[in-house]
Amino acid sequence: MRIVLIGPPGAGKGTQCQRLVEYLDIPHLSTGEMLRQAVLDKSREGQQAASYMESGQLVPDELIVGMISKRLMRPDCRSGCLLDGFPRTLRQAATLDEFLERQAMTLDGVIELSVPRDELVRRMQHRKREDDDPEIFARRIASFERQTAPLLDYYARQKKLVSIDGLGSADEIFGRVQAAIDGFAARQRQADDDQG
Ligand code: ADP
Repeated sequence: MRIVLIGPPGAGKGTQCQRLVEYLDIPHLSTGEMLRQAVLDKSREGQQAASYMESGQLVPDELIVGMISKRLMRPDCRSGCLLDGFPRTLRQAATLDEFLERQAMTLDGVIELSVPRDELVRRMQHRKREDDDPEIFARRIASFERQTAPLLDYYARQKKLVSIDGLGSADEIFGRVQAAIDGFAARQRQADDDQG
């Protein structure tokens, strides 16, 4: 199963992603993690990305698309994967759709983890990642609202989006994630039936 998880910074995406990849036994493709590793490795991509990341801006589409398409071509992604942090702009989403079509792959569903802004700010005050400085965090939220939120509409129009409430315990939220996955699986079976 191929899934995208979308949520603003501080929504708890990391926790849910971890559980979800274990549950579905698929690779976890986190562009944030890939970029942080690239920065540590001082690779060309890492050097290009560093200043954007430090200031809470998105890195250029070309850079991220190159990185994620290489990863998606690896054999372990054949039967599925969880995309976390990508796509993040409409342009990235359109590029992903084209890429998947060329590879004869499909996206089974998109899950939005929805959390109100004041709760995000409250949660951030308890975290301590480097780019969690209040000003930069605010910029990351603004970037989510401006650049990533339009994707929700994009995927809703494709009838791929399920929005779930991101408030509650990690277990409660994961229950909602599982229900969304069950829905995607049922739809996949339906589509297979319709075909043959
Ligand atoms: P967040 O907690 O905001 O979801 P991530 O760990 O996903 O953060 O990403 C950290 C940083 O890496 C982002 O602030 C951004 O600079 C960069 N980044 C990650 N994914 C993308 C992407 N798909 N497009 C552009 N920039 C990205």
